[in-house]
Amino acid sequence: PSGPGSPLTEGLNPQQREAVEYRGPALLIVAGAGSGKTRVLTHRIAHLIEMRDAWPSQILAITFTNKAAAEMRERVQALLGDSASGMWISTFHSACVRILRREAESLGLSSTFTIYDSADQRTILKRIIKGLDADTMGFTPASAQAKISKLKNELADVESHARNANMNDPQEVMFLEIFRQYTRRLREASALDFDDLIAETVYLFRAFPKVAALYQRRFRHILVDEYQDTNHAQYSLIRELTRPVAPAIVSELDEHGILVRGMTDATGSIPGASLTVVGDSDQSIYAFRGADIRNIVEFERDFPGAKVVLLEQNYRSTQNILSAANAVISNNFDRKDKKLWTADGDGEQIVGYTGYTAHDEAQFIADEIESLHRSGVAYRDIAVFYRTNAQTRALEEIFVRSALPYRVVGGTKFYERAEIKDAMAYLIAVANPLDELALRRILNTPKRGIGPATETTIAQFAEQNELTFRQAMRSAGGLGLGPKVTAAISALADVLDEAAAMLVPSQAGIDAGTNEGASKISEVLVFLMERSGLLDALRNSRDPQDETRAENVEELVAQTRDFDRENPGATLVDFLTQVSLVAAADELDDASGTVSLMTLHTAKGLEYHAVFLTGIEEGLLPHQMSASEPGGPAEERRLFYVGITRARKRLYLSLAMSRAQFGEVAVAMPSRYLQEIPEGLIDWRQSPGMATSRGGSQPRALNARRGFGQGGAGGGAWGTRDRDLERFSVTRSEKPKTEWANKVTGTVRDNGDLTLEAGDRIRHADFGEGKVTQVTGEGTKRIAHVSFDRAGQKKLLIKIAPIEKL
Ligand code: ATP
Ligand code: MG
Repeated sequence: PSGPGSPLTEGLNPQQREAVEYRGPALLIVAGAGSGKTRVLTHRIAHLIEMRDAWPSQILAITFTNKAAAEMRERVQALLGDSASGMWISTFHSACVRILRREAESLGLSSTFTIYDSADQRTILKRIIKGLDADTMGFTPASAQAKISKLKNELADVESHARNANMNDPQEVMFLEIFRQYTRRLREASALDFDDLIAETVYLFRAFPKVAALYQRRFRHILVDEYQDTNHAQYSLIRELTRPVAPAIVSELDEHGILVRGMTDATGSIPGASLTVVGDSDQSIYAFRGADIRNIVEFERDFPGAKVVLLEQNYRSTQNILSAANAVISNNFDRKDKKLWTADGDGEQIVGYTGYTAHDEAQFIADEIESLHRSGVAYRDIAVFYRTNAQTRALEEIFVRSALPYRVVGGTKFYERAEIKDAMAYLIAVANPLDELALRRILNTPKRGIGPATETTIAQFAEQNELTFRQAMRSAGGLGLGPKVTAAISALADVLDEAAAMLVPSQAGIDAGTNEGASKISEVLVFLMERSGLLDALRNSRDPQDETRAENVEELVAQTRDFDRENPGATLVDFLTQVSLVAAADELDDASGTVSLMTLHTAKGLEYHAVFLTGIEEGLLPHQMSASEPGGPAEERRLFYVGITRARKRLYLSLAMSRAQFGEVAVAMPSRYLQEIPEGLIDWRQSPGMATSRGGSQPRALNARRGFGQGGAGGGAWGTRDRDLERFSVTRSEKPKTEWANKVTGTVRDNGDLTLEAGDRIRHADFGEGKVTQVTGEGTKRIAHVSFDRAGQKKLLIKIAPIEKL
């Protein structure tokens, strides 16, 4: 039935088709970027269902983001022409939350457990570190968090870590205590952090084989995208899920009326689920989060008899883009050599651009985007990538000034805003009364005269009497606090209790096992915001920012209304779960006509007509933090490779000659990776300011339009640079410039040997003529203080400023 004419295999090349049609216990698809791995997974799912090899409910597909999951579900539905309900297509985290909410009881966890994000984790760790005076030993919330996360990704817990720890090392003893207290606090609050979601599910399956059997029996086909980025915990989860169910457990299931007939093999076991994984070890970019490239390399050992399919042809990018990608990645050793190729032709040259500053770089990008747009490329088909979030500042400044519609994906997320976290804490406190963190967050938000001393009194009282924080609040009357404070505390407890009561279904609903009669989530939120006084406090505040904050809270209310409408019968916990699991890339909205700005990590798996890779400089890419990590520069190279291979038709590589980083301006060196791209592939352009300074003439209109004003009006981009220069120092070691580096930056300018002294007159490309009043600093850090005839006082980095001595 699914012959050449079937839409499920139509338009696939022979290798892709083989991967879609293969039936067997284990299938590994390894291939470079853009070769159709994700597409094959999608077609394979549809094919399994159409061929009646699986019911939708027997399929578990794991994607890297919720957005990828939604897309895959849509495509499968489109291929099948009907609903694929019952199919689990989700991220590791979402799948685990679903399992854990159902099976919470086995773990002694409330099914309404809260999911703590990174900020929550740090708040708790901060309290613990303070309580232990561990900061004096150099512990910070961030360092403890990273260490705990790493351990959990390795499936270590306090006990197992204690066995391996060196108890003679005070650092290790202290860390162990932090880890122990952290674990206890989360447990008491009935909360799990993100790493727990995976680790606890693995633990659940290992400790409760019967529970595991339910899922091992259910999922007959497990498919994992981006397998190269799975860590040990995720890998273990897959292993547990694909284990066969032993005969003894099969008969227990049978006794419980769970269907097993026809599922067992000759030995009486239910065979393990069939596993399909797709990945590209060249795109492994999450080693810092414990991702283990060995998972893919050793797949054949772990799953003997696994079928391996290699895809070679690329359907995404032009040959020029692929050649650049090939050239870069071939510098990583210890990899299987594979070359990306396309049948679609060379396409346009890659464009390289060296800006004078980050603002100059951003202006170039904005101008190019406008010209792409004029030539018919939709804004939503254009993306700008960067290594660090700090790089968005210059880009955003220029984009706003250029009135360019853009969107920062995964920047300061809506749900990370303080006022949204406050409002959410009210909801969490209602859903999970054990959650001390949420309660303490709202205790004095809005201000109701409950100070930190009172908070500590309540916490201590709870601790001493083995009460929850919430119960201790109810005992506030006996704590010797003032009458006003006591009243405020019980008023808050009343509001929370009333809100909880609103969520209880009517008797009819309880009888029918539905939510009938319960208030909607939006109604509960409105109630909480009004009765707690939070919204009024924001509305009546004199702080102009509070007006925006009030609007944000109203936006949250609007979101709960949408949720209520789209998910009839869903509970408050469902809403909280959804919010917790929103990952950075999920905020992408393809329908919106905006340019997307995002980090290289977020860009994984996506594709755009035109891609701008920015800040391709030493220190940024490779990031300076990676230099000391073993394998760091190789991982950064893979990140660069991921970025390059997102582009379909147009690729831009840009850098700036000087960049403010960590509060200081430094001379930037072109990234070593640029040198790895064959010369002919890149059409290098340079900063107009630079070019004109060499040519002598000065297109003032151009510069004015760019906001490189002449003195007045805040100085625009230059103003920022000047402020930064005051704190100027070279933060990176000076590397000898190679001939090649000179080609990239040196074509622009290097005034290294220009001797200036007070009294000299100079001409600057943008500021015109002026008199040097002073020269400070040495070597590459020499700064000329110049009094310009029209542009006022400026400080210029002599080495690279577009100046000439008159
Ligand atoms: P990445 O490694 O970046 O995740 P990938 O291997 O998952 O890439 P896909 O995203 O599945 O690649 O495919 C890349 C592009 O090529 C998509 O636009 C996809 O629709 C297209 N494509 C894949 N296979 C074919 C084919 N046989 N014919 C036409 N287009 C294809
Ligand atoms: Mg993919």
